Amino acid sequence: MVYIFGNWKCNPTNLKKAKEIFYTIEKNFKGNKKVNVAVFPPFVFLNSLNSEKVKKGAQDVFWEKQGAFTGEISPLMLKDAGCRYCLVGHSERRYIIGENNEIIEKKLRSCLENKIVPILCFGEREKVSFGKVKIEIKEQLKFLINYKSFKNVILAYEPVFSIGTGLVCDTSHINDVLNFLKNELNIKYKVLYGGSLNSKNCQEILEKCDINGFLVGGASLKTREFLKIIEIAEKYAKSKEK
Ligand code: PEP
Repeated sequence: MVYIFGNWKCNPTNLKKAKEIFYTIEKNFKGNKKVNVAVFPPFVFLNSLNSEKVKKGAQDVFWEKQGAFTGEISPLMLKDAGCRYCLVGHSERRYIIGENNEIIEKKLRSCLENKIVPILCFGEREKVSFGKVKIEIKEQLKFLINYKSFKNVILAYEPVFSIGTGLVCDTSHINDVLNFLKNELNIKYKVLYGGSLNSKNCQEILEKCDINGFLVGGASLKTREFLKIIEIAEKYAKSKEK
């Protein structure tokens, strides 16, 4: 199974466009057991986008179920809006909004307690030596290492220098990170890759890295491009079955 998840970020600016993107994907994706497609639209569009084939996730969540928390969206609200997944710790929330690991851990726990699968994003901020990358990643994933009993977490490795820059990460570096997780941190969750992914570079990453799929940002808003990525993932998954 290859996961193709689309993070719409703070786009588009109106429901008409959101529906256009969502239902174009929904109409053209046949739906099958080889590819799991989900999109992560802004909160306000969630209730208006519904499909059996294309799943939904949220871009963020608050850790309490309800109460006096102005502006926040609770896990119960996300469940009610049909969300199966939720991004947690995206680098834009870490470095633009200022979320720290303590907040991220609370959000992750809140998802798990409420049966939403968290997509925990992590990745180094800058191109530095691999030794420094390991220290940064270990710090970001500390609570997974301490609590091995977490189930149903999906990780998304997103080196910040690759997000929205067109600088897709080297496959050898992705493999180094995947090996570090497995062999040194003993973290065995599914891992997606994210960072300037498009229909031209996704095949190489699928072939060269032991990755479970992708978290796609910018390209997930371009329906033809997103559908092409899905098609490539389908072909890849089929070829693996033979
Ligand atoms: C993201 O925001 O998760 C992301 C991977 O963005 P992009 O694909 O645009 O680099």
